Amino acid sequence: MQRVAVVGAGVVGFSTAVCIAEALPSCSVTLLAEKFSPHTTSDGAAGILFAGEFPDIPMETQRRWFKSSFDHLLDIAQSQHSPEAGVILSSGFHIFKDAPAVKKPFWSDLVIGFRLMTDSELKRFPDHKFGQAFTTIKCECSSYLPWLQKRFITAGGQVEQRKVNSLQELSDSYDVIVNCSGLGSKLLVGDDQMHPVRGQVLKVEAPWLKHFIKDADGKTYIYPGIHWVTVGGTRQEGDWRLQVDDGETKGILERCGGLEPSIGKAKVLGGWVGLRPSRKNPRVEREVTQLRGRRVPVVHNYGHGAFGVTLAWGTALDALGLVRQSLHETSPQARL
Ligand code: FAD
Repeated sequence: MQRVAVVGAGVVGFSTAVCIAEALPSCSVTLLAEKFSPHTTSDGAAGILFAGEFPDIPMETQRRWFKSSFDHLLDIAQSQHSPEAGVILSSGFHIFKDAPAVKKPFWSDLVIGFRLMTDSELKRFPDHKFGQAFTTIKCECSSYLPWLQKRFITAGGQVEQRKVNSLQELSDSYDVIVNCSGLGSKLLVGDDQMHPVRGQVLKVEAPWLKHFIKDADGKTYIYPGIHWVTVGGTRQEGDWRLQVDDGETKGILERCGGLEPSIGKAKVLGGWVGLRPSRKNPRVEREVTQLRGRRVPVVHNYGHGAFGVTLAWGTALDALGLVRQSLHETSPQARL
């Protein structure tokens, strides 16, 4: 039996582990991570499916990642698993102070009912001149990760809570290592491109809000969810602080109140800070490394920045393809 290790229990690690365990039932798959839900970055993400463009990844690949993730989560949102998995449809507005050069993003035909906002809809946002309306998905990882973990165990996977200090530690026990350690890759594989982009959000009680509002400034948004509304946020490059900043809490409530005045009446339930595992482009590739005298294939799947929930299932399927290729090459028949 060939043995696969997946490092990381965020949305990227669990999506990858489930894809491998379900597609390759003859393998033994173990997920190892220092932190599990509710203590990962993924847990606090608003989880709205929405993407920016990465500069050096072919557009065809970015569209495939988005589409695979969207279709996978849409099936869940429209099934009886939706409440337990924390995956729902979410409609709303993306508003701009000035019309952008690209009026339809690359994923506009992959979400549901994408259209430009009418003048009458824009009257509600007097500082904004342009907007997009669409229905996307909200995937709440505080429910989705435990749900994926159950699915992984059902498929025969095993989990182990453990910090991996070096991939060498795994080289004797596994035939393929899959690295989904997010920001941890900075140290684990010495990736100097990896850096944090700090984000602070607040959970508020405002059950009357049903539609998302996202300002194109990238740091003002209101995302109604299943149990609370997430309001945000901040985007601070290279900032490693994990503490909630009271000044930023005030700023978030002011900015969001400017878009939706009733936010002033919402009860603040708490604040949360996460570090987006950022890189110029996500790294989804395979290398064969020399670990303790053995040549071990390592499949990397990390660096999703602000779009990890959006792209996780799509990049997981690519990682599965790279694992298949690695297992084929290391199988005894292939060596003959
Ligand atoms: P993580 O969730 O950070 O998981 C990394 C895992 O690796 C953890 O289990 C960790 O313990 C483990 N690990 C690391 N190093 C080691 C080691 N040495 N040994 C063992 N285990 C290790 N994305 C969206 O798509 N939509 C959104 O609306 C959205 N909103 C966001 C809002 C905020 C405020 C923030 C901060 C992020 C948001 N994101 C959003 C981005 C999203 O959260 C990330 O892209 C995503 O969580 C990355 O997932 P991951 O699995 O790569 O990393």
